[in-house]
Amino acid sequence: MREIQMVDLGAQYKKLKPEIDAAMGSVLESTAFIKGPEVGLFENELKQYMGVRHVIACANGTDALQLALMALGLKPGDEIITTNFTFIASVEVVALLGYKLVLVDPDPGSFNISAEAVRKALTPKTRAVIPVHLFGQCADMEGIMKLAAEHDLFVIEDAAQATGTDYFFSDGSTRKAGTIGHIGTTSFFPSKNLGCYGDGGALYTNDDRLAAKLRSIANHGMKVRYHYSDIGINSRLDTIQAAVLRVKLKYLDSFNEARGRAAARYNEAFSGVHGIIVPPRMSWSSHIFHQYTLRITGGRRDSLKAYLEERKIPAMIYYPGPLHMQEAYRFLGYAAGSFPVTSQLCSEVLSLPMHPDLEQDQADYIIRSVLCFFED
Ligand SMILES: *Cc1c(COP(=O)(O)O)cnc(C)c1O
Repeated sequence: MREIQMVDLGAQYKKLKPEIDAAMGSVLESTAFIKGPEVGLFENELKQYMGVRHVIACANGTDALQLALMALGLKPGDEIITTNFTFIASVEVVALLGYKLVLVDPDPGSFNISAEAVRKALTPKTRAVIPVHLFGQCADMEGIMKLAAEHDLFVIEDAAQATGTDYFFSDGSTRKAGTIGHIGTTSFFPSKNLGCYGDGGALYTNDDRLAAKLRSIANHGMKVRYHYSDIGINSRLDTIQAAVLRVKLKYLDSFNEARGRAAARYNEAFSGVHGIIVPPRMSWSSHIFHQYTLRITGGRRDSLKAYLEERKIPAMIYYPGPLHMQEAYRFLGYAAGSFPVTSQLCSEVLSLPMHPDLEQDQADYIIRSVLCFFED
């Protein structure tokens, strides 16, 4: 049996090697390392795939979030609501830009914030909401967009973990995660479902004005060369990364389907086991299983993790500590017990190895090991 990894980038590279090497080689030959033609081609192909009017590539998913906030023209002190149970990038950019960060607990049944939780956190200063589609499944976008329309809020979807996830509206229509809010953001960090071989990110929007603003801000605030209409940053996707992503985008659906099959195998084995809660499924969203995340109840999570590690099975805790208790975010003034759901999830979640190349014998071994632990 191959050594089990959380994400097996080596196995994937082996399969795609001829195509990836050719794509990278042609950029090397061209020497168009910055703003080469592959960047625009990739933006167009991703646009088709996502069914969105504009894709703007940038340097990473954190920059994408920062660019999204910069494009909204908010004032210092304006309030932005997001979840306390996410990767730090979703909240960091809010604090960095001097907006007031308002954290809310996710719904324990979905890991994502609900429209109701956002509603409770509204004040007259609320200007934007950042729903995060955590682990590959969408937050309740229909509810959140309705609330946003009522209260004139911007919605920025952090879709870094949900590239390819479908959202199902109650009228029967479907949209890709990240294309529903005013702006969507994503990351091409190597371990993401659509990952490159370094850093990369992108923004989605259907709004022509926001698209022009985002493009300008990502390029030093420049619309016409050496004329600066906005204060911007330098955030570009490298041509080599765009070339890699063009290859990988063609396989994204098949990769996500393979993750789905691995998740189905896990679900079947773990459903009904006392002490395990399998990943929640929402009727409004498909799930691309960026992570396959169990909740281990009864205080046994850490001993299960150690048990699996002894058997050479990696397992990860996403995320181990509530953000409001991190040293850098103490200034927000939240009390330790302010977010009971986040605190509970942080003590219960355990993500198992999940990637498109997880082999049957590996999955069987992981399943047997987890079940063995619970039989003791
Ligand atoms: C990975 C990730 C990001 C940041 O992406 P980078 O490309 O690493 O900057 C932001 N939000 C979420 C939810 C992520 O998982």
